[in-house]
Amino acid sequence: MPEGGLIVEAGNSIEFKTGAWASVKPVHDKNKCVNCLKCHFICPEGAISVKDGKIDKFDLDFCKGCGVCAEECPVKAIKMVKK
Ligand code: SF4
Ligand code: SF4
Repeated sequence: MPEGGLIVEAGNSIEFKTGAWASVKPVHDKNKCVNCLKCHFICPEGAISVKDGKIDKFDLDFCKGCGVCAEECPVKAIKMVKK
């Protein structure tokens, strides 16, 4: 580790799998989802991908289980469950 814990290389977040922090994970209900994409834009880890204007998948390698997506979904289409 560099002195002072400095991050010396740019763009290294892809190597830091924050999914290891999570004790819970999001479960997405496609039938309830209205594809407003709010969860995609607010996820602090960029773990929710979009394809053709619709939610595609949740990348559990990077989802840290914060639950913000479930909290903010206007139609409650995301539930947090134990991993
Ligand atoms: S916030 Fe809810 S309704 Fe909107 S895209 Fe995400 S899961 Fe679907
Ligand atoms: S629980 Fe948090 S980190 Fe995981 S997908 Fe939802 S907003 Fe992103």
